[in-house]
Amino acid sequence: MNFDLFVIGGGSGGVRCARIAAGHGARVGVAEQRFWGGTCVNIGCVPKKFLVMAAEYGAAAADARGFGWDIETKTHDWPALLKAKDKEITRLNGIYKRLLDQSGATVFEARASFIDAHTLDVGGQRVTAEKILIATGGHPTGLDIPGAEHAIISDDAFYLPEMPRRIAIIGSGYIAVEFAGVFAGLGAQTHLVYRQPLPLRGFDGDIRAGLAEALAANGVQLHPGATPERIDAEGATKRLTLSGGTILDVDVVFFATGRAANTKGLNLEAAGVKTGPKGEIPVDAGFTTSTNNIFAVGDVTDRLNLTPVATAEGHALADTLFGNNPRRVSLENVPTAVFSIPPIATVGLTEEEAAKQGGAKIFLTRFTPMRHNLTGRARKTTMKLVVDAATDKILGAHMLGEDAPEIMQGIAIAITAGATKADFDRTIGIHPTAAEEFVTLRTQTRVVGPKTATE
Ligand code: NDP
Repeated sequence: MNFDLFVIGGGSGGVRCARIAAGHGARVGVAEQRFWGGTCVNIGCVPKKFLVMAAEYGAAAADARGFGWDIETKTHDWPALLKAKDKEITRLNGIYKRLLDQSGATVFEARASFIDAHTLDVGGQRVTAEKILIATGGHPTGLDIPGAEHAIISDDAFYLPEMPRRIAIIGSGYIAVEFAGVFAGLGAQTHLVYRQPLPLRGFDGDIRAGLAEALAANGVQLHPGATPERIDAEGATKRLTLSGGTILDVDVVFFATGRAANTKGLNLEAAGVKTGPKGEIPVDAGFTTSTNNIFAVGDVTDRLNLTPVATAEGHALADTLFGNNPRRVSLENVPTAVFSIPPIATVGLTEEEAAKQGGAKIFLTRFTPMRHNLTGRARKTTMKLVVDAATDKILGAHMLGEDAPEIMQGIAIAITAGATKADFDRTIGIHPTAAEEFVTLRTQTRVVGPKTATE
């Protein structure tokens, strides 16, 4: 065999696994056909956060007036933002590649596909490996409607030559609500079209309701309960027809309607690796596919499609296979953030989930952040704790509001450690912050149980 481990895919999960395995002394090869760092670094989390930051500056400049500043903002320079973003992404690509080179892994900038369970075609070269990791990630999927070819996906949104003046975003998952904040914040007339009554299906109900309000306050035009039926190009204008007959004339229609695993073209059949109904690769708790020397981590398994989950999985796999340290990754209590404006962060059970699973006490607060008492901006923060009625353990924490992702990381540690509401109550707050609300929530808002469960 040429390698002990061959990794297909140079994204978050693949690079981490390759580096750690090489560090444990394994002979490692890794192939990437597009860009080092994968979706997150190139067309996902990292550039997205730069765009969100850019969008926040406009509002921040206006808000500064409430504090005595007189800042005049001219129009936003979109090409300048993309140029700065691209420069930083190129720097990060280089770091990823360098880390791999320094780890001693052999790097292939090529496409890999299976010949059999131990043999790969890597850019025309035949390569053999004892173990193979598939870490090929996923890609955005659009809707199959007439005129779909006129729409863009998130990959394109990072490279739009011009900032759209009018945009319709389809969907209300992470990507849709994050980009709604970006484009509305940068001054575009922004429509959000989604089929649910509230955005972000699966998130806590109070957070979803608060988000709908926040999006509207930011000028996003909401179209709940609507699905797109067709797109017609009329010159530069795209005419989007919704169920119910509403017509939206925009410059860009943006499908943010989910992602699918990258498994096509890998020739998985040759290796006996089975896929699920959406093309994803099912794995067991040890990341093993249906072929026992072939593993998969990250978005290609379509479980929790989050970068830190992929890196944790890649690391655990390398430790297990080559580090004499077998370990698993728990997908319970994984904290996550949506970089909407303002952002959302959450860990553990929603009120709806807790209600179904037994009884829960709910502690909820909603307030105007201190800053906006001076700016006058209509923006509310929502914070919520879901507490097990029987054991007093914190089952879930949810926040919509400025700094929510920064605050939630620490709360996630407490929940992972099994903290109770009494532990939160005896913790001294940091004053004056929004975060202190999590330790000063004294009044129970309601008690929920299977009888009150709505979803
Ligand atoms: P999501 O799965 O989160 O959301 C998809 C959206 O598209 C939902 O609103 C869904 O509606 C809607 N949709 C799907 N099919 C249709 C259809 N046929 N007609 C109308 N609407 C439809 O996908 P995203 O694309 O937003 O993101 C993919 C994943 O990437 C996320 O789930 C997350 O794991 C990850 N991600 C994480 C980020 C972060 O951590 N901040 C940022 C971006 C992405 P419905 O709810 O009705 O099904």
